Amino acid sequence: MKDTKTKVGIIICDRYKGCAGGKCFRAAQNREGAFARYQDQELEIVGYTSCGGCPGGNIEYAPAEMKKNGATVIHLATGFLVGYPPCPYMEYFKHFIEEQYGMEVVFGTHPIPEKYYVIHQKLNTWNTPFLQEAIRESLPNQQLRLAYD
Ligand code: SF4
Repeated sequence: MKDTKTKVGIIICDRYKGCAGGKCFRAAQNREGAFARYQDQELEIVGYTSCGGCPGGNIEYAPAEMKKNGATVIHLATGFLVGYPPCPYMEYFKHFIEEQYGMEVVFGTHPIPEKYYVIHQKLNTWNTPFLQEAIRESLPNQQLRLAYD
C-alpha cells in the first residue's frame, strides 16, 4: 500500500562518473538494496550527480539543489562502499550533509554486486563497525548480488 512519497537525491563516487545509473534506477524501481526501506512508499529520484572527485567538493553544494527539488534523503551510492578502497570520507560526508542541510543520509543504493562482494571478503575490507553498518542495507543475499553483477 503506497501511502507516502519520498524524494531522494543520489550522489555517486566520481570514480564511477561514467556510470549511467542503470543499477541505481533499477534498484529504486524494484525497491532493492538500500531502496528496500521504501517498500511501502512512492519514491522519486530528484537528483543524480557525482561527488566531484576526491575529496568530494560537490558534496558541499549538490545537496542544496536536491533539497530545493524536495529531496529529504541523500543516498551515497553503492560505489562509495565497494570501491577499492571504499570512500575514506563518507562518514564525514554523512555528518556534514546532516548538519548543513538537515537531510538524512543513507549509505548505498543498489545491491552490492557479487564480484565486488567476493573480493572485499578476501580483502576483509568491511572489517570495522562503521563499515559493517554502512553496507548493511545494500548487502543482499547471493541471488540478488548475482542479479546486479
Ligand atoms: S573516494 Fe570518495 S571523495 Fe573520492 S571520488 Fe569516490 S566518493 Fe568522491
